[in-house]
Amino acid sequence: MGRKTANLVLGGAFGKPSIVVDTHFARLARRFGWTAHTDPDKIEHDVAALLPQREWTAASYRVIWHGRRVCHARRPACGACGVARWCPSFGTGPTDEAIARKLVKTGSFS
Ligand code: SF4
Repeated sequence: MGRKTANLVLGGAFGKPSIVVDTHFARLARRFGWTAHTDPDKIEHDVAALLPQREWTAASYRVIWHGRRVCHARRPACGACGVARWCPSFGTGPTDEAIARKLVKTGSFS
């Protein structure tokens, strides 16, 4: 079992605080300025130093969800982003709200 999966199980099933660094989390952590690294272990280390341990699991799920829905790899929907005012990467994607809204993905994700 890989580290990402192990952390997912620990956080989701057993309530042990864990940071889940998948491709979405890694991208958003860099866009938020939480890390400059691309290596998942280094990203996890940097984020662990920033966030209180009790927030790790919930923050992981929220960040991954936001990455799937709004902050996409190629065209993030900056103009429709709820955390835009705090994001140092605002403007990476379209900032026009009407254009950005069309980029937001809805529905369930597996
Ligand atoms: S402002 Fe843009 S880059 Fe920043 S989190 Fe939102 S969608 Fe992503």
